Amino acid sequence: MSAPRTPTTAEELRGAGLRVTAARVALLETVRDGDHLDAEAVTSGVRDRVGHISLQAVYEALHALTAAGLIRRIEPAGSPARFEGRVGDNHHHIVCRSCGVVADVDCAVGEVPCLSASDTHGFSIDEAEVIYWGLCPACSAARGSRAP
Ligand SMILES: [Zn+2]
Ligand SMILES: [Zn+2]
Repeated sequence: MSAPRTPTTAEELRGAGLRVTAARVALLETVRDGDHLDAEAVTSGVRDRVGHISLQAVYEALHALTAAGLIRRIEPAGSPARFEGRVGDNHHHIVCRSCGVVADVDCAVGEVPCLSASDTHGFSIDEAEVIYWGLCPACSAARGSRAP
């Protein structure tokens, strides 16, 4: 009896048409385990798993995996690009203006899906990028306590 098993990370890379390397496997696992990591955090995660890897190699792998749709890149204004393993659901993000922490936000409740633009201008749309900006609870609390 063999239960249906989920593909290994290496098989997913191969399935996406990518060359499989230990560094790429480690990178995909790091991004999936992490929470909207920037390239620097991804690099240290990959180094924890496979030892030394150059920043350049990390950038190349991030680019290849993003292009293959295995990871998603978000780029809030004024902050370094972040990478996440949650792909294909067009979810949005909320970003703290003060500390830059990022959290996932599903599509607006009770609204038509954000991909249904009111005017497509003839485009075939596959992504809607919505970023909510504000202050996270920790930063709000810190500000509140500083107020007169
Ligand atoms: Zn904050
Ligand atoms: Zn996300």
